[in-house]
Amino acid sequence: MTNIPTSPEERTHEQNLDLLAQVAVNVGLGLQRGQELLMTASLDALPLARRITEHAYRAGASLVTTMYSDDETTLMRYQLAPDESFDRAAGWLYDGMAAAFKSGSARLAIAGGNPMLLSHADPDKVGRANSAMSKAYRPALEYISRHDINWTIVASATPAWASAVFPNDAPDIALAKLWDAIFAASRIHTADPVSAWKQHDSILHVHAARLNEKRYSALRYRGPGTDLLLGLADDHLWLGGGTTAGNGLYCIPNIPTEEVFSMPHKDRVDGTVTATKPLSHQGTMIEGIQVRFERGRIVEARATRGQEVLQKLIDTDDGARHLGEVALVPHSSPIANSGIIFSNTLFDENAASHIAMGQSYASTVRDGEKLTPEQLAAKGANHSLIHVDWMIGSDKLDVDAITASGNEEPLMRGGEWV
Ligand code: ZN
Ligand code: ZN
Repeated sequence: MTNIPTSPEERTHEQNLDLLAQVAVNVGLGLQRGQELLMTASLDALPLARRITEHAYRAGASLVTTMYSDDETTLMRYQLAPDESFDRAAGWLYDGMAAAFKSGSARLAIAGGNPMLLSHADPDKVGRANSAMSKAYRPALEYISRHDINWTIVASATPAWASAVFPNDAPDIALAKLWDAIFAASRIHTADPVSAWKQHDSILHVHAARLNEKRYSALRYRGPGTDLLLGLADDHLWLGGGTTAGNGLYCIPNIPTEEVFSMPHKDRVDGTVTATKPLSHQGTMIEGIQVRFERGRIVEARATRGQEVLQKLIDTDDGARHLGEVALVPHSSPIANSGIIFSNTLFDENAASHIAMGQSYASTVRDGEKLTPEQLAAKGANHSLIHVDWMIGSDKLDVDAITASGNEEPLMRGGEWV
């Protein structure tokens, strides 16, 4: 598509979709001429998948392969498949993905699933199916978590997701509202989205660099229902925005992204923390989460709604009771400003400061990708089949940083950078 108006108000939906695809391919992915692309998308995201495919070929992709999923057929498994089904996963498919990444393929995921899809499915079956999938996917996922390849995630509005986010609106209104929120959060409503992203990316890098210079040993969080001392991993590294993957290509792994994040020390977290937003997990809304840590371990976990799902989650394995990520997001981020609960991590985790239970990212310690699992663990890295982010930031959250010598410096006041 050519001649897209620079004034966002004059653009059609199709033109915004095209700009989002351009951002996904050229900024998010940084696709290289001759590179293959492996994409996953729901059938409801077909229009965006097509625009992305077009821009990928225009950027010189040698082959674009898309794996489509469909909510209706996913549900049929929970309704009709024999019990043994839920300990199975298409291992051959995930092996194929790992082979694609090994041979240099880039990876793009279009997010946009119905957050309530499995809300009526048996939680035990959902848990088993997820854990079988996590195991099978692990070898392929390693290429992504180690940042060996360039990858990104973008979002497409879908009717079911839109209805979950805007339940009181007619379906077409809800869909239009969700698209609008996605375009706004993804900086498509700017004169030149590609340069808007380059500018935003450099701001995130400035924040990360400042934190890295300070080499803080811990963060202290204070807010309503929160008094938490969070130790940072030895040699931890703050990251934000884009990164150069192991294959030398620069990518921004999440569109949108607002966070700077690092690695907590899995055994050095103490105190109580209260969630500031509901957590949408596998079709269940977990609300009012409050958790108490002792020496890094969750020793008490409560939720006003969805307690059973929360309990199952932290019982996944030992690492599920420890933290794997800490992220700072100013309360004034455009996603927080929208006030919308997207029930999708890609958006909600960029709306507020958050922590994640479970697996940590090797990239968040210095030279982490070159360390063995044992060396990583010695620095405080956590290991788990899960990685679940939940929001603890608000306009009432104060964060102090503690230096190696024990001094406290204010980092955030009322949810904003000091
Ligand atoms: Zn995060
Ligand atoms: Zn996370």
